[in-house]
Amino acid sequence: MLDIRELSKRFGYGNGAVTALHEVNFTIGEGEFFTLLGPSGCGKTTLLRLIAGFSSPSGGALVLDGKDIARMPPNQRPVNTVFQNYALFPHMTVGQNVAFALEAQGRPRTEIAPAVDAMLKLVQLGHLKDRKSSELSGGQQQRVALARALVAKPRILLLDEPLSALDMKLRKDMQIELKRLQRETGLTFIFVTHDQEEALTMSDRIAVMSGGRVQQIATPRELYDRPANRFVAGFIGESNFLTVQSSGGSVILGGSRTHLPGATDGALTLMIRPEHVALSSHLPEAINVTAKVKQLVFFGTDTHVYLTLTDGTELVARIQNALHGNRTFAEGATINIALPTEALRIIADTEIEA
Ligand code: ATP
Repeated sequence: MLDIRELSKRFGYGNGAVTALHEVNFTIGEGEFFTLLGPSGCGKTTLLRLIAGFSSPSGGALVLDGKDIARMPPNQRPVNTVFQNYALFPHMTVGQNVAFALEAQGRPRTEIAPAVDAMLKLVQLGHLKDRKSSELSGGQQQRVALARALVAKPRILLLDEPLSALDMKLRKDMQIELKRLQRETGLTFIFVTHDQEEALTMSDRIAVMSGGRVQQIATPRELYDRPANRFVAGFIGESNFLTVQSSGGSVILGGSRTHLPGATDGALTLMIRPEHVALSSHLPEAINVTAKVKQLVFFGTDTHVYLTLTDGTELVARIQNALHGNRTFAEGATINIALPTEALRIIADTEIEA
């Protein structure tokens, strides 16, 4: 539906020039909840502003429904944006705020009233229609902003960190709410965040960005299970990285040699998630080593177990307290641990500009 082709953006000229986006390519499907995720300065807002039309690209094309819209004025694009700071009209009621875009388009009153009512019902604010928007809580204001952006039925809704001003509890509720809204309306959402958990819980697909480049585009599960490189593995979820020597299809770690499918000769970086490290275990098809328990940290649902291997390598394991409640590991003890080969990933360890 939206084809982003070789899109680039430079700011400034000569020595002071900054390339905020380097020839980015990807396609967003109709009805997708698509997220741009990355650390501060990676270029996600720049990309969103190019799609909205608030800024024009230095090169490339933005093809929507077969037509290049990259140089079209923002008000002519079938795209709407919800910002972090809701930008509501404070002196207007909730109903008037939502009606505003339709009135500006000159739609008849008989059409506007039912559209506003339906939209307020969708965001569960029907009862507050006549309240001034300045007299609402942060979460309610954000819902009005959503209703106002959705009522004009854009082809694409752009959301620029729309939940970051909300407190933790409200933010979690709104994540579920937003996902529900997107499903019920069937609209295409492009959502910007630097919060990996928010991206994982809401998105159909995520583009992980750093240094003005897309590092990987995949579903949340694929990103977590098969990160393309060290940047993605480190940014999404918790990871252990192990540097090992490899020869003849086997790797050496903590004095033991283990066959690892796909291992090429030389130094390799392996990644394993903390929940896959098996404690007090010796398993077939795994790297089996001894480790010293350095520290235990209780997190309610699970416990993080910090380990040191004989060669000084540090690892963290995570065990679920409900499953292992009565199996305790004393700090200072030496235990056997197993790193199952099916959970180990060989990671491209290229330097990536943050
Ligand atoms: P954040 O999460 O902090 O908003 P971001 O990922 O959205 O970060 P961008 O705002 O897209 O990042 O910025 C990408 C790069 O482009 C940064 O290095 C930034 O300093 C630079 N940049 C953005 N806007 C301008 C501008 N108007 N002039 C010069 N440089 C800019």
